[in-house]
Amino acid sequence: MSRFLLIGPPGAGKGTQAEQLSVAFGIPAISTGDIFRHNVKNETELGKLAKSYMDRGEYVPDSLTNDLVRDRLSQPDVAAGFLLDGYPRTAEQVTELDAILADNSSELDAVIQLTADTDEVVRRLLGRAAEQGRADDTEDVIRRRLEVYEEQTAPLIDSYASRGLVIRIDGLGPVAEVTERIIEALENQSGISPR
Ligand code: AMP
Repeated sequence: MSRFLLIGPPGAGKGTQAEQLSVAFGIPAISTGDIFRHNVKNETELGKLAKSYMDRGEYVPDSLTNDLVRDRLSQPDVAAGFLLDGYPRTAEQVTELDAILADNSSELDAVIQLTADTDEVVRRLLGRAAEQGRADDTEDVIRRRLEVYEEQTAPLIDSYASRGLVIRIDGLGPVAEVTERIIEALENQSGISPR
């Protein structure tokens, strides 16, 4: 049973690493950003609400985001564990996740903090903008997303660190190398091994 979070600035490689770890540990990777983008694409009610925030680089309101995650974590495939990518991002979301886990009599095993310096992150995001054309990957919006991350999400790492859960990983380098670093740190610091 493994329950992890991946925290780090936009562009640190969370989504890429989440995919690798999902395979290695045999658990679903749940990305709130992906779920929102899927809803935007399909023009659902949730998508219409989320889009205006996402396009500006702001966070979608906690009430919407928390409901979505509570629902997703009630699905049967998370019984064997899960990896949350991009949630929680605010103090209120941390409180909600604690409540959801308590309701399920479960707890987190580790919080993986992926680090990357700002220049590298902006470079990566601009590269992704050219490749994928994401609406929120323009330079202004990227800058705003980094600001919002620093203001609202970076402070959450301290609160998880005080619970002894944080594993800090350098997100720079080839994908497979970063994955190896994460797996090694999980084994050494948390006693968690891939399946
Ligand atoms: P991401 O792909 O994780 O960078 O998320 C893309 C966008 O989706 C973010 O900039 C937010 O607008 C929105 N989003 C994703 N996850 C959350 C969250 N946990 N709380 C609020 N907004 C979120």
